[in-house]
Amino acid sequence: MDSRWTYLDYNATTPVRPEVLARVAEVMTVGGNPSSVHRFGRLAHAFIDRARESVAELAGADMEQVVFTSGATEANALALRSLARHAAPGGRAWGASRVLISAIEHDSVVGSAHALDLPVETVPVTADGVIDLAALEQMLGAGGTAVLALQLANNETGVIQPVATAAELVHAAGGVLHCDAVQAAGRIPIDFPAVSADTLVLSSHKMGGPAGAGALLARELSLLSPMLIGGGQERGLRAGTENAAAISGFGLAADLAAADLSKASDISILRDDLESRLKVMAAGVRVFGTGSARLPNTSCFALGGLDNETQVIALDLAGVAVSAGAACSSGKVAASRVLRAMGVPESLARAAIRVSIGWATTRADIDRFCAAWSEFVTRQMARATGTARFAAAAH
Ligand code: PMP
Repeated sequence: MDSRWTYLDYNATTPVRPEVLARVAEVMTVGGNPSSVHRFGRLAHAFIDRARESVAELAGADMEQVVFTSGATEANALALRSLARHAAPGGRAWGASRVLISAIEHDSVVGSAHALDLPVETVPVTADGVIDLAALEQMLGAGGTAVLALQLANNETGVIQPVATAAELVHAAGGVLHCDAVQAAGRIPIDFPAVSADTLVLSSHKMGGPAGAGALLARELSLLSPMLIGGGQERGLRAGTENAAAISGFGLAADLAAADLSKASDISILRDDLESRLKVMAAGVRVFGTGSARLPNTSCFALGGLDNETQVIALDLAGVAVSAGAACSSGKVAASRVLRAMGVPESLARAAIRVSIGWATTRADIDRFCAAWSEFVTRQMARATGTARFAAAAH
């Protein structure tokens, strides 16, 4: 990223690490088609094998459990389709009769779930943004074999979900669990066996790797059936010439992210400092998900009376990139359905912005955000003088 800017949108995409950039260029320069028998093919293949080890290690998995895809969107689709239609735990023929998704899943999970031709039911979340386990238990008790999709951490609030507990409930009811771990990977430790998910998804570009590479981890590869058929790549589970450069960059990013996990407390210190300063700048600011365990890097907050799109634009003009949390493809910012699911009123959800930080964030970036946001809020309040708009929210 351009160093003249303050980039605080790591949950949208994380700046590529320089080492990764060099690796991607190297593989593109020296590698051939990984399926070729000659030296160039073997070299590309070796890069992919190494990446498979790195990605598996980041998630506490075995490299044999990793299938590379074009990203998490594809991996979520492959997992859900496989689990719903073709899953065969222990080799038995099996088919789901219903799909349960938490109310705060990413669009790629929601979209893939609805494409399955099965009833889709939404499991509510609490006001703190955690799946309602009592509601889940009740829904599972209604019968039918379920696939549950539950993310490990939310992209907007950073709230961490009790996936292992949910998996226990789902498995006891004869179902299976898919976990989108895209936002958690590289930010908190992940242990695939302990998470107890049947399938789990990671994305390269959320951990400092290039976009266009993702991984699907499966408890057993026999759970999966391919969407793309052809050359037999990825043990026949994802045909198409592998993007060796992006996959290799993904692997290196996974290594670097794993090494940086020990620095998570430095990141959370910056995030917590930001949140304390927000409260000083505007006492009425509400930070979402603080009653739950959260990722160390994410802060989603709102000050009533502000508009999130205007904030994002004003901050952009001040050289600071943040996100409004939820944007549809037209580029129009809507009220976040994640916050709405947490019971946040629509007017407050429309004020919410997300700051997400990571490996290159410094205290100066937080200072710059605070200065720009404070100036914006002061300007808005001056404009609103004479109205009661901000009276309750800020002083
Ligand atoms: N799941 C979550 C939670 C995400 O945040 C994203 C990226 N916004 C995706 C899935 C999709 O990942 P990709 O861009 O690799 O398709």
